[in-house]
Amino acid sequence: MNEQKTQHWADAVASEVAAGGRPPVISTGISPSGEIHIGNMREVLTADAVYRALNDLGVATGFHFVADNFDPLRKVSPFLDRETYAPLVGRPLSEIPCPCGEHESYAAHFLEPFLESLGKLHVHVDVVRADELYKSGRMNQRIVTALQRRDVIVAILKELTGKDMGDDWSPFVPMCNACGRMNGTRVTGFDGGQETVDFTCKCGAAGTLPMAGGGKLQWRIDWPARWLTLGVTVEPFGKDHSTRGGSYDTGIRIAREVFEYEPPHPIPYEWISLKGQGDMSSSKGNVLSIGHMLKVVPPEVLRYMVMRAKPVKTIKFDPGRPLAQLVDQVDDATAKGRDERAMELSRAAGFEPVGVPYKHLVMVAQVARFDLDRVMEILERTGYPGVSRTAVADRLEYASHWLAEFAPEEEKYTVQERLPEEAAGLTEDQRRFLSLLAAGLNDGMEGAAIHDLIYHVSEQFEGTPPAELFQAIYLSLLGKARGPRAGSFIAILGPGFCKGRFAEAAG
Ligand SMILES: [Zn+2]
Ligand SMILES: [Zn+2]
Repeated sequence: MNEQKTQHWADAVASEVAAGGRPPVISTGISPSGEIHIGNMREVLTADAVYRALNDLGVATGFHFVADNFDPLRKVSPFLDRETYAPLVGRPLSEIPCPCGEHESYAAHFLEPFLESLGKLHVHVDVVRADELYKSGRMNQRIVTALQRRDVIVAILKELTGKDMGDDWSPFVPMCNACGRMNGTRVTGFDGGQETVDFTCKCGAAGTLPMAGGGKLQWRIDWPARWLTLGVTVEPFGKDHSTRGGSYDTGIRIAREVFEYEPPHPIPYEWISLKGQGDMSSSKGNVLSIGHMLKVVPPEVLRYMVMRAKPVKTIKFDPGRPLAQLVDQVDDATAKGRDERAMELSRAAGFEPVGVPYKHLVMVAQVARFDLDRVMEILERTGYPGVSRTAVADRLEYASHWLAEFAPEEEKYTVQERLPEEAAGLTEDQRRFLSLLAAGLNDGMEGAAIHDLIYHVSEQFEGTPPAELFQAIYLSLLGKARGPRAGSFIAILGPGFCKGRFAEAAG
């Protein structure tokens, strides 16, 4: 058989980039206008995969993350206090107060937890804050060029987007020095030598501003300008930028014709959508923050979700059962050395596989009420002897969050200390079924044997549907009509314990 291995997408991109001849500098960017969610995570992880792949080729590579904190606040999102934030619309995110009062700015409020999550994901990136980039004067020459070639830019935008920019339009957006806003200002002149811009504002102010920190370039110009300033040669971006006439399309032309710079190698990627709720976006409010998800699963699991799928494929994120299955896949791949390259690119702090199926572990955890000694004892007894105690302890921590927030109802239960009241309503057949089951159960029986016993006993009840008989098991143990697979569940609880409980329920 042909054993030819397919190359991982990150290695394919890395080879292409390395062959391009320019020293690779990978750039990513996010505007911290709201919670930075796991949809945004795809941007940095896509870049990180290529960064690691280039390093593996021995190619020195730059990697940075641009926080677009100099973007103005566009609207008062539902999570903001309207009275406080309505007057701040139009002012840059770096210059307005944070919603909780603990951070130095609005932008920092969303950026800090994101950067912390990047640390946990082992994404080591140089952070560039757009406000500092502008205030430092490093963008001044780009601003001068853009203002001088305004008409070239207008023609490119018209050709590719079909939009007339109008006579008042300028590639530069001044920040009014009286009201601090960017959304009502107009450029009335500039001095390339002095690096200043003249402006008027709808608040009535007018004057002259330094280019350094006195405003910023419009997004479609800002992006290619930044490529030149930061020497960017590789950049992943979401599909909103990669459409025809989108900002990458115009960016290519502006880079070449205005800034005379060859645009970066593009890596367009698809969104991560949240099951049942479509594409994740902060404005829709259907987001899960990265920090939140890192409490539910290890960082390697989130990384693997991005690494195993080609960037052009949509990732459907379902934090319920499918996320638990993903944990199993990562466990299994680690233990068996499967999907090696994607796993290597998913490495974070160090992942210790547990070697116990997640479904079994959460069942055991709930029966043991998360008591580690009891969990270890039950695992030993139910076919998982010798598993790592530290790995189990670590996984239990994640599992408790998953159970509390995302587990499907049928996987959550509490074993009742005493015979539940619900058992009082059992039918004659159900009681007889439990009584026969109790007679057949013995200490030391394993899940498979118990499973066989249950089926064997239920076959003796021709007139009663099996589902009704199973209900008797769950009602007498959990006080509810449904529960986990009975055979392994009884094995976990202890056949001796269940024997007593079923006999009691049978009356
Ligand atoms: Zn805050
Ligand atoms: Zn103003």
